[in-house]
Amino acid sequence: MASIELKDLSKAWNQVVAVDAIDLAITDGEFLAILGPSGCGKSTTLFMLAGIYVPTGGEIRFDGARVNEVEARDRNVGIVFQSYALYPNMTVMQNIMFPLRFKTIAKAEAESKAQAVAELVQVGELLARRPGQLSGGQQQRVALARAIIKEPNLLLLDEPLSNLDATLRLTMRTELRRIQRELGVTTILVTHDQIEATTMADRIVCMNKGRIEQVGSADDLYARPRSTFVASFIGSPPINFVDMTRDGDSLRSGEESLELVSANGADSRASVRLGVRPENLRAAASGIPAIVHSVEPMGREVLYVCDTPLGPLRFLEPFADAAHGVGDSLRLTFDSRQSIIFDAESGNRIDGLTARAPTTTTA
Ligand code: ADP
Repeated sequence: MASIELKDLSKAWNQVVAVDAIDLAITDGEFLAILGPSGCGKSTTLFMLAGIYVPTGGEIRFDGARVNEVEARDRNVGIVFQSYALYPNMTVMQNIMFPLRFKTIAKAEAESKAQAVAELVQVGELLARRPGQLSGGQQQRVALARAIIKEPNLLLLDEPLSNLDATLRLTMRTELRRIQRELGVTTILVTHDQIEATTMADRIVCMNKGRIEQVGSADDLYARPRSTFVASFIGSPPINFVDMTRDGDSLRSGEESLELVSANGADSRASVRLGVRPENLRAAASGIPAIVHSVEPMGREVLYVCDTPLGPLRFLEPFADAAHGVGDSLRLTFDSRQSIIFDAESGNRIDGLTARAPTTTTA
């Protein structure tokens, strides 16, 4: 197990800067997720940690010691890829023992280690089979056993669940988390799936275009996103954004205006983007006038899209309370603490500024 530090770390291929001067510290035993859209630099970061790619700038440290020049095989890093990459002609036992082949340990000891990790990932009954005789979920467990048999300093998981069906993904999320806790191994998960990141990781690193947008808990990213990018990447259905102009103590968009609360002293005339999550909007006696445009049942909740003077707004209601149909007029309100205001130009959140829904009942 190790603490990991990335200092000003970069990787470029000619013109393409895949990872752009990132700084990150991961504590010993932590489960960290790197989350972001395709092409944002997640895998490149992971490959640099594994020693597969050499950084073009900056430093990687394991327990304080620079490892940039340390070969992949000498870093003691376990990796699980999206494709499990098991050897088809070997048995499960041989696959799991494979990383020990250069170690000077007795065969009996290697076998007993393999047996123990196989039990941990619950494939102890399958050791004599070949990968072709296993389900996708079982193959994934074998790949995990192979990654942890050497008791790695660092466990890297590259989209490990994306080849599994939805039900199995759910089980394996819990399983991976249990195994990681039992081993106490520092773990980095790369994923584009926000649910995977938020349910499994202690902290999440949200990346965009080779840079780190925000590092924090799932709650930090959800409730206190630092940028419009993070706000829109986390949360489903996505957050509502309304482009508005700040005019002193109010926000305007066309004829509609919202009162600002706890206005800070900063630029009092500026273009801002108001963000309110669909689950934080609700129908009320007063608020923003809205006409229901579409109604979409989503299991336990119903998603409405409404036409409003602020543009289209999505809001959610529990299925049991859902009472609106297409064409209905209603008012939408929100708790000002759940409004998030961003600078329209930089996309950064403006601290200490929230908005209040109108309290009028007439259009
Ligand atoms: P992610 O894992 O987030 O999808 P990657 O780290 O794979 O993103 O890629 C980041 C960027 O680097 C992308 O623009 C990608 O096209 C580029 N890239 C990745 N690998 C290479 C490579 N071997 N050669 C050139 N460009 C690459």
